[in-house]
Amino acid sequence: MEIRVIEERCKGCGMCIYVCAPKVLSISKNKINAMGFHPVEALYPEKCLGCRMCEYICPEFAIYIIKNERS
Ligand code: SF4
Ligand code: SF4
Repeated sequence: MEIRVIEERCKGCGMCIYVCAPKVLSISKNKINAMGFHPVEALYPEKCLGCRMCEYICPEFAIYIIKNERS
C-alpha cells in the first residue's frame, strides 16, 4: 500500500487522521507548504488497511492510496 499526499493541496485539517482507524497518519511537524499549512504525512504506512477512508473524506483531494502487488 502506498499513501500519497499532495502536500501543496493539504490544509492540515486532520480529517483524514480522524477517520484512519489504525492511526497511520499524522500532521508533519517539520514540513510547511506554500499556503502555510503543515501537511499530513504517513507515519506508519505499514499499518495501512487500504480502506481509502482518508481519500474519501479529504475535502482537498490531497491524499490517495495506491494498491501495489504486495497489498
Ligand atoms: S487507507 Fe485507511 S488505513 Fe490507510 S491511511 Fe487511509 S484511512 Fe488509514
Ligand atoms: S490530506 Fe486532506 S483531510 Fe488530510 S489533513 Fe490534508 S486536507 Fe485535511
